[in-house]
Formats: sequence, C-alpha cells, structure tokens
Amino acid sequence: MTRPHLPLRLRLDGAALVSNWRWLARMSGTAACGAAVKANGYGLGAAEIAARLEEAGCRDFFVATWAEAKALLPSLGDASLSVLHGLAAEDVPVAATSRARPVLNTPLQVARWREAGQGRSCDVMIDTGMNRLGLSLRDITDGLLEGLNIETLMSHLASADEDVPMNRAQRDAFAFLADKVPARRLSLANSAGICLGTDYAFDLTRPGLALYGGIPRQEAEGHIGQVVRLEAQIIQRRSISSGDAVGYNATFVADRDMELAILNLGYADGYLRGFSGRGRARIGEDFAPVVGRVSMDLTAICVDGAPELQEGDWIELDLDLPNASEQSGLSQYELLTVMGNRHDRIWS
Ligand SMILES: *Cc1c(COP(=O)(O)O)cnc(C)c1O
Repeated sequence: MTRPHLPLRLRLDGAALVSNWRWLARMSGTAACGAAVKANGYGLGAAEIAARLEEAGCRDFFVATWAEAKALLPSLGDASLSVLHGLAAEDVPVAATSRARPVLNTPLQVARWREAGQGRSCDVMIDTGMNRLGLSLRDITDGLLEGLNIETLMSHLASADEDVPMNRAQRDAFAFLADKVPARRLSLANSAGICLGTDYAFDLTRPGLALYGGIPRQEAEGHIGQVVRLEAQIIQRRSISSGDAVGYNATFVADRDMELAILNLGYADGYLRGFSGRGRARIGEDFAPVVGRVSMDLTAICVDGAPELQEGDWIELDLDLPNASEQSGLSQYELLTVMGNRHDRIWS
C-alpha cells in the first residue's frame, strides 16, 4: 500500500542535536552530561534522539513515566535510564522487572522500592526549595535512606533561567547533603543550570531544552543551534482585494490587494492561536506574516513578494525558538511539546 502523503513535516537536524549536547557536556566541566527525553523527547521523538545522543557518548537519560521508559528502552543500548516520577503502586510490577531506575520522591516510594527493588539501585530526588517533587531535607536527616542503594541523588533548580539568590541557595542546600547521603553521584543542573557554571554541575547534568535548540539563558546564544524546522505545504494560493476579510471571525481585513498562501498547519499541529497575526514564515531571506486567525488545520500567510510560490510548494515557518516564543506568547518548552502527531519527522 502506498503511504499517504503528509502535508506537514519537521526537519530534524541530528548534527545540531549532537553539537548542542557536546557544548552542554563541555560546559558541564568534569561532570557527565545526560539528556532529558521525557514527553517523547520534548515532542521530537525520544527514540531517535536517544539513539543519536548515546552514539555521541551520552550515558544517562531521563523520562517522566514508566510508559515512556518502556517505549524508549528498546532503542537504548546499555545507557542508564531514570524515571523521574518515581514509583506509584501501579508501577511496581513494571519497575521490578525493568532495567530503568525509579527516581524516588516520597517516603512511600522509598518504602515501595525497599520491598520491590530487591537491593537494586535507584535514584533519589530531594526538594531544595521548588516544592515540586522530592523528599524534604527533614525526611533525609531522619535516616529514611539508610541502606538504600542510591546511584544518583538529585535536586532541581526552580529559577536557573534568572539571576536570583535562590540559585545559590538551592545549590548550597544540595551541597550540604552530599556527605550525608550515600549516593554514588550528585546531579542538580538542567539546561539553564549548566549555564550558571560548573559550580552547579556536580557529577551529572540533565539538560533538556537546550539539546533541542532552546536558549535557556544568554550564555547559550551562539552556541546552541536550531534542531527543528517546521515546514507546511501550500494547499491553495489566492488573491484578495482591499476590504476582504481572512479567517474565522474576520479578524484581519485587507487594506490593499493581497496575495495569500493557505498552509496545511494549524493549532492541532501545535501552531497555536497565539501565532494569529503574529507568526511568520520564511521565504528566502524575507518573512511572510501570518494573517488572520490560525485555524485547527490551516493558516494563511501573505505572499505578496513571492509570485513564484505555487500550490504544492513547501514553506518553512519561523520556529527559531526564542523568536517564536516572543511571537506566540508560548514558552520555548511549550512550542516544542505541543507539536502533535500529524507531522512527518525527517532526520538528517
Ligand atoms: C525536565 C527536567 C530536566 C530538563 O530541564 P530543561 O530545563 O529542559 O533543561 C532536568 N531535570 C528534571 C528533574 C526535569 O524534570
């Protein structure tokens, strides 16, 4: 059977992915550099990403759930895989036979792993001020972790993308625990945390966003390259006259005669309505603005300066993450993870 044609695609740059990881690894100093590939590799495809990074030398991967771990393990060699959301009662049968490690976050999860883990190694998350996941400092000093086989003790920075005193406070709280918990490795920094300097790197770093081309802090500018390009096919080209409206609710009315291209791309593909009237496509060195509302499956752009563009041609949207974040009001993280499943994913 012929595979149906997909009029929307992501072009994924494997060399840029690896080069981003290498830069983050260098910035991590003597610490090992892992990779957060949760949420299907931030929407880009965890299996393809992990395979490329493992080949490049990455030895530590992080997913959120056991379902993500199960999906990813067949694509991993012998690199380590940690499951950040720990160990719910329902996870025990899967976790007991998986080679992935739970990241234990609560006293109940610790108790479960003592029972189910049979002495196998685990990771432990400590909360140092974010008040999201992790044991509190108090839990630990009470001897909760005694005798546990801990590979990596970790914590997570709340505001590493900003210059605030909280970063240093979290770092110091974490360092204070280093000799109190018998873990083989310590891990604190995400992408932004790596940019804060090797003081924050400890033994293992856990970047996500910057691997995929996100710029977490200005230190990464010029070093982190774009990994994903979004291309949509023109389904129709049309001419409109001054006074004509475009799209749902006629939010755009032309003040002159105009040329439009209607793209196979909409909010169901993660091109959310924040791009209405604000997003843009690339045409050579120029930009073609989005006009009117983004629909579920369609977006109109103005192609006045491009008479050569035809129905069936492909158009690249401007998905440079910092720019697109500005245009849409979405964070760089959201831009990646809302992408959806209707794209062809083409790696080079
Ligand atoms: C998602 C996540 C990361 C990666 O964070 P980025 O900001 O994307 O680099 C690291 N550690 C934990 C615990 C996470 O949940």
